Amino acid sequence: MNTISFNIEQVRARIQAACQAAGRAPAEVTLLAVSKTFGPEAVRAAAACGQRAFGENYLQEAVEKMAQLAEDADAPTLEWHCIGPIQSNKTRLVAEHFDWAHTVDRLKTAQRLSQQRPTHLAPLNVCIQVNIDGGANKAGVMPEETLALAREIAPLPGLVLRGLMTIPEPAADFESQRAVHLRARALFNQLRAQGLAVDTLSMGMTSDLEAAIAAGSTMVRVGTAIFGGRPMKTTA
Ligand SMILES: *Cc1c(COP(=O)(O)O)cnc(C)c1O
Repeated sequence: MNTISFNIEQVRARIQAACQAAGRAPAEVTLLAVSKTFGPEAVRAAAACGQRAFGENYLQEAVEKMAQLAEDADAPTLEWHCIGPIQSNKTRLVAEHFDWAHTVDRLKTAQRLSQQRPTHLAPLNVCIQVNIDGGANKAGVMPEETLALAREIAPLPGLVLRGLMTIPEPAADFESQRAVHLRARALFNQLRAQGLAVDTLSMGMTSDLEAAIAAGSTMVRVGTAIFGGRPMKTTA
């Protein structure tokens, strides 16, 4: 068994244990394999163990990887999630190549994605990124502005608003991780209570996926625990 398939089994076991501890069904939590900085061979190895959803941060790198993988003779259909920052001049790449965008935090980005979504593709699934712990320099809409933004995005024809996404500051212990994730969950519940048909709470990474699942995450985004450590990268 290669390293990646071993790691995926480990991560699946972590998800299963966390679901069990939380009294949730493992099928409620989707594993998104974050393949940024790793080449097509890493994606192939993960796909060979049944992994289908992949997250990418750097758009040019991602699009090149998709093109390389598309040349494989018996390539399975993969689902691509943009989880990196989306600058205005990059919306077209996201609209044309991805199935999901997790990092929408302003109406203008959503409008461009909707307009640029090719009509032969299904609408783009989007999550609103929420700055859940209020960090000054962080991406994401502030929690108190999330409902208003969700109401503006939901009707856009080229998009389907699926839910919320967060990247909290790293916290060392389970309880503080869970406390922040519970704030995202409360916001998510509030959207649903207001009639928005959202079903996705994208939160939890290698170091906090158990706490995220305990708080109600439906999609964990895991890179390091599957593919190993990444070289530092500072540009998008
Ligand atoms: C890189 C990244 C991840 C994966 O992080 P790991 O700690 O390697 O699991 C998840 N979400 C986002 C937005 C990322 O940029």
